Amino acid sequence: MTAEHTPGAGAARRGGTGIQVDGLGKTFKVGAGRSVTALEDAHLHTEQGSFLALLGPSGCGKSTILRVLAGLEEPTSGQALVDGRTPAELRKDSELGIAFQDHALLPWRSVVKNIALPFEVAGRPVDKEYVAELIALVGLTGFENAKPAQLSGGMRQRVSIARALALKPSVLLLDEPFGALDDMTRQNLNLELLRIWTEKPATTLLVTHGISEAIFLSDQVAVMSPRPGRIKEVIDVDLPRPRTPEMMRTPEFHHFVDRASELLFGADGRAAAEA
Ligand code: ADP
Ligand code: MG
Repeated sequence: MTAEHTPGAGAARRGGTGIQVDGLGKTFKVGAGRSVTALEDAHLHTEQGSFLALLGPSGCGKSTILRVLAGLEEPTSGQALVDGRTPAELRKDSELGIAFQDHALLPWRSVVKNIALPFEVAGRPVDKEYVAELIALVGLTGFENAKPAQLSGGMRQRVSIARALALKPSVLLLDEPFGALDDMTRQNLNLELLRIWTEKPATTLLVTHGISEAIFLSDQVAVMSPRPGRIKEVIDVDLPRPRTPEMMRTPEFHHFVDRASELLFGADGRAAAEA
């Protein structure tokens, strides 16, 4: 194990700026002179190496924020930096690990070859030892040569997480990576994600629909308003770490879930309509 991957090394790295989103706006042109304002004046600030979850109604701009941070979308206004660097700089240095709900694995490639893909894209020699370590980390030892079609949905998402980690990114952007999975699988993968993040801490943004999983995993949970999306409130989840599943049954945990639910659904429990 190298020094940079010593458990707890990320904790020591903490303190610098992590995600810095300032006055971020995004308007999409949708033809015939029409446009959709997906985001308006969004602000987010986290520490380097911390875990932020983004919660909000469908279509409020969660993926848009993530895609701007990933350098896949140019903002219309405002700016986004992670760990003091622009998305373009992070991409250039292969410091971004990204995973989506749709695992986006290459169907003709085996598990090991899918996880090795980022090395090829970056023009680097494949670190076979590290790929094997990642396969073990996500619990897929024995499935190295399987093709995606031979795997369960949960296993495919594990491959996708392992691939996101391949180049030891300092920034992890996860867009509903477990959204399509059943509750049990999802809970297991959340525990695994937490273990991985604890072992190899990265400045993380997780977009999710799951209130409990957001609270369980995160240092902060940002709740967004319906479109045009703004950050309504950022909840500091000051539950101790390491987090354990038992914590999910404590009054402290439920206090955070109630607060997030209230922000999302209002006091009467009804979801706010899209603007
Ligand atoms: P979320 O991830 O919160 O569900 P998105 O960020 O995907 O929401 O989308 C926010 C809004 O922007 C939605 O109304 C969506 O239809 C619109 N949108 C997203 N991407 C595009 C695009 N490329 N072109 C036009 N509209 C888009
Ligand atoms: Mg989305």
